[in-house]
Amino acid sequence: MAELKDVKGIGPKSLSLLNKIGIISIEDLVTHYPFRYDLLERDNLALVGDGEKIIIDGKVESVPLLMRFKAGLNKMNFRLVTQSGVVGVSIFNRAFLKNQLSVGTGITVIGKLDKSKNVITASDIKMDMLSNSMKIEPVYHCTSGLTNKNMSTYINMALLMFGKNISDNIPDVYINKYGFLNKKTSLNIVHNPSSLDKLNEVKNRLKYEELFEFMFKINYLKIMNKKKNNGLSRNIERSELDKFIKKIPFSLTNDQNNAVEEILNDLEAPHRMNRLLQGDVGSGKTIVAFIAMFANFLSGYQSALMAPTEILAVQHFSNLQNFLKDTMVKVALLTGSTSKKDRVDIYKGLADGTINIVVGTHALIQDEVEYHNLGLVITDEQHRFGVHQRANLQNKGITPDVLYMSATPIPRTYALTIFGDMDVSTIKERPKGRQRIDTFVKKNSEIKDVLEMMYEELKNKHQVYVIAPLIEESENCDLTTVNELKDQMKLAFRDLYKIDIVHGKMASGAKDLIMEQFKNNQVQILISTTVVEVGVDVPNATTMVIFDADRFGLSTLHQLRGRVGRGTSKSKCILISDSDAERLKIMEKEDDGFVISEEDFKLRGHGDLFGTKQSGDMSFKIASIKDDYKLLLQAKKDSKEYLLDKSTDDDELKKRLIHSITIKES
Ligand code: ADP
Ligand code: MG
Repeated sequence: MAELKDVKGIGPKSLSLLNKIGIISIEDLVTHYPFRYDLLERDNLALVGDGEKIIIDGKVESVPLLMRFKAGLNKMNFRLVTQSGVVGVSIFNRAFLKNQLSVGTGITVIGKLDKSKNVITASDIKMDMLSNSMKIEPVYHCTSGLTNKNMSTYINMALLMFGKNISDNIPDVYINKYGFLNKKTSLNIVHNPSSLDKLNEVKNRLKYEELFEFMFKINYLKIMNKKKNNGLSRNIERSELDKFIKKIPFSLTNDQNNAVEEILNDLEAPHRMNRLLQGDVGSGKTIVAFIAMFANFLSGYQSALMAPTEILAVQHFSNLQNFLKDTMVKVALLTGSTSKKDRVDIYKGLADGTINIVVGTHALIQDEVEYHNLGLVITDEQHRFGVHQRANLQNKGITPDVLYMSATPIPRTYALTIFGDMDVSTIKERPKGRQRIDTFVKKNSEIKDVLEMMYEELKNKHQVYVIAPLIEESENCDLTTVNELKDQMKLAFRDLYKIDIVHGKMASGAKDLIMEQFKNNQVQILISTTVVEVGVDVPNATTMVIFDADRFGLSTLHQLRGRVGRGTSKSKCILISDSDAERLKIMEKEDDGFVISEEDFKLRGHGDLFGTKQSGDMSFKIASIKDDYKLLLQAKKDSKEYLLDKSTDDDELKKRLIHSITIKES
């Protein structure tokens, strides 16, 4: 295999510079794509105004006159004959070009035109003329010591010497089907485009290839997981389960029913379930999870439900107890604040199987915890769980079925990538009777309106969440603002309503107490420094007020808004901000979490939705999940078809692609 150093012109110094920017192999070099293209279009001298930018080509007419100044500065003047007349050119600090600029040489000059002197002050000179009236110039990410020109030269040399060895990772069927050019030609064009049409054509082909490889890998992993039969297969007494579902005080939505069905199928099948249950806030994921746990119980296995916070764990525990009160199921709660004595009992019950379902926080997957026969793990708000914690379970030699729940609506595009090797169930439909939450964007100066709107709801015996403004300086300052805000609210509402605060620095016991009081309507206005704990369910709270709303991404705002509108009463969300009104107005119009997260995705990129840890292999060189979604779907379909087509199992390409996956995964 040829190496980078074998490319003519790349010496030890440039080799180390290339390595520095991550170019290690010849393949890396030729797929170091331009990050943009400059369009060089020939101007007409007569049509360019004074002081304007000009691009013009022509032949050097006079020997360049070189002047040297102090401190190593220099300037060169010469005349240039162009199609639209003769013009003077001066350029600073390019004395080294003097010998190349002999009379008669064709060049292109980029600079600014001084009309009265008929002189261009050049910022750049290129040593060739524009063959057509237009030239498309690739611009590369470089590093100091390595110019754009160097990069272009190395790439073209590599293509010339080794271009035919570069592997083409699109199967012939699709090359023919889509009429793609071959890889070498495509690379040649992407680095030296002659027209925009041609450029777009090959970019599309190169993107497709990248997405095809990516989706091939994901499809392969997914299929392998199913083939492995490494899961539990169960017999679920469906009639028993149906009886139980009938007793739920409301009827499930179609989406909920479908999600339940998909999960049950996974539980019964011999492969390990690896499923994401996603649905907008308030769409009713919890009940689906509860049904799954009950089904798992019916088939004789234990379940664990992990929540990211203690408050949520407690909430799930009490709902679950209520939900299962007429059954034989034994449920336990295990969190960081479970007493030592209780903990010992719970550990024992989990180990001997007398506890059927355990709800808790990270405490559930600590080393001391042993399970009798853990068959199902459900994590709520899964993005808060690190990959590490999930791996922890597997390290214990347990391979239960896993269901991840996420209320952070992930754009389909994005879900497909990070959760590419997972199956996804989506709940879009909302439970019946839900009303749209009216959303208003207000300025700080309109606080009186806001207080009035709050009062309206409070008078009707409803409750209010307030997210306090952000203070950057320090934690203590932060507390002062919340206390000040509390005083302000006190001033406005006097002793009519009880106001309390939760903040991040509070001990969890104290926090739980206040949340409990809020739940029981002993507190009517809850002020919080940060985000109200994800997932709390207080149907009587009908108003959400968010100060400094502009500091949050739209998805987060949507999450916060989802804390209200959980009952049958009309709810409101008030976003207070003096800036960014246009973005916030999206919230007034839109109430579909998926659409909102798409908007967020467009505005802020994927970084806002998840930590980078979770983003998986997103490092595409030329394709973009966001912009090339259609192509991604195409590649997904094609790669699956190719993978499943047994007649191509002996293809070099197929073997190579599979080989590259197994190497990376081990
Ligand atoms: P999330 O998907 O945000 O976790 P929850 O599971 O907390 O939503 O559900 C929100 C509320 O809606 C809960 O009070 C729940 O009991 C209720 N709910 C769930 N499904 C239905 C349904 N099909 N019909 C009516 N209410 C429902
Ligand atoms: Mg929830």
